[in-house]
Amino acid sequence: MKEFDCADVVPGCGASFRAPTSGELIAHGRLHALHTHGKAEPDMPAVDVAVRAAIRDVG
Ligand SMILES: [Zn+2]
Repeated sequence: MKEFDCADVVPGCGASFRAPTSGELIAHGRLHALHTHGKAEPDMPAVDVAVRAAIRDVG
């Protein structure tokens, strides 16, 4: 299982996501960034890089 805390990218954000694969986790991160932080399409590569860097393996 993979875990991503949005606070690692956006300090103060309490959102946390878990998914079986990095790809699914990045998809969650994209939706969250879009809906919660107003990040639109042009920023997506940067979002992907930030999310990928913050992903941790969890039990
Ligand atoms: Zn967030």
